[in-house]
Amino acid sequence: MENDIKYSVVVPVYNEEEVITESYQRLKKVMDSINESYEIIFVNDGCRDKTPEIAADICKQDKNIKLINFSRNFGHQIAISAGMDYARGQAVVVIDADLQDPPELIPEMIKKWKEGYDVVYAKRTKRKGESIFKKVTAALFYRFLRNMTSVNIPADVGDFRLIDRKVCDIMKRIREKNRFIRGLVSWSGFKQTAVEYIREERFAGETKYPLKKMIQFAFDGITSFSYKPLKIATSLGIFCSLGGFIYLFVVLFQALILKMTWPGWASSISITLIFNGITLIILGIIGEYIGRIYDESKNRPLYVIRTFVNFKDIGEEKDR
Ligand code: UDP
Ligand code: MG
Repeated sequence: MENDIKYSVVVPVYNEEEVITESYQRLKKVMDSINESYEIIFVNDGCRDKTPEIAADICKQDKNIKLINFSRNFGHQIAISAGMDYARGQAVVVIDADLQDPPELIPEMIKKWKEGYDVVYAKRTKRKGESIFKKVTAALFYRFLRNMTSVNIPADVGDFRLIDRKVCDIMKRIREKNRFIRGLVSWSGFKQTAVEYIREERFAGETKYPLKKMIQFAFDGITSFSYKPLKIATSLGIFCSLGGFIYLFVVLFQALILKMTWPGWASSISITLIFNGITLIILGIIGEYIGRIYDESKNRPLYVIRTFVNFKDIGEEKDR
């Protein structure tokens, strides 16, 4: 592959017909102002609206724009991975399509990159126009994640970042299925730094991360970097049996010394419920890990591509 491209911008899109034109224009303006060669790769993550048509139109008029069409929805993190797989730039920028991450920050990231940093992530100092619920859960999640894992994953940082070619090459070698890209980038251990920004409101449309996907994502983040949740079983077990043991003495004391008799139904039921609950939670956690082992063991490709647009040296159909 010839390499004449300095910057690649990877933009995952899922049903973004209301924003894609605007985000293309804003990105183009910023990238043009840098005066170096670039490509913008839209990854259509199985959109079911007009996004792919609009993107294909843009590609027709502007050869710097490329489009990867997935055969169906594979998810945000997988879409980013595909973009990285096909990006050719010396530096790769990942940005959301909805303009919550301002493209105008890219020149600043590039400046840091030129100073010698391999990973420049964008840290949100504020989030605009998102519900209190999302803000609180996000803040809790990032802190929880930091405590659970041994990898230095910065808090309040999304996937909006610039990575150097060598980091991108490492990402391409990681083929795990339930991926948490920002963690993997930190895991790779290259020199990282931050630029700060205020997270804007979505330009239009609505979030593609409903609660269910957010929980899934949180599980991916934690389970792929830590097996501490599995250890909960041990500590809870020790804690509970200790409690039970102490309670046994109380019961014996009441029965033998105080000669107290009591119905006992309520206490047995509550203890049964508590312990069964704990057992089920632990089983669930183990199930999460087993599910992930199962996913990896199947060895299926990460995604399936239906078509490429404006990729000169790639044929029409390919997957990996
Ligand atoms: N996205 C995607 N596939 C999905 C969900 C989202 O490619 O299954 C894209 C979406 O189009 C957007 C980015 O990922 O460009 C972030 O999604 P969103 O803005 O909905 O997430 P939020 O900012 O609310 O966390
Ligand atoms: Mg968004």
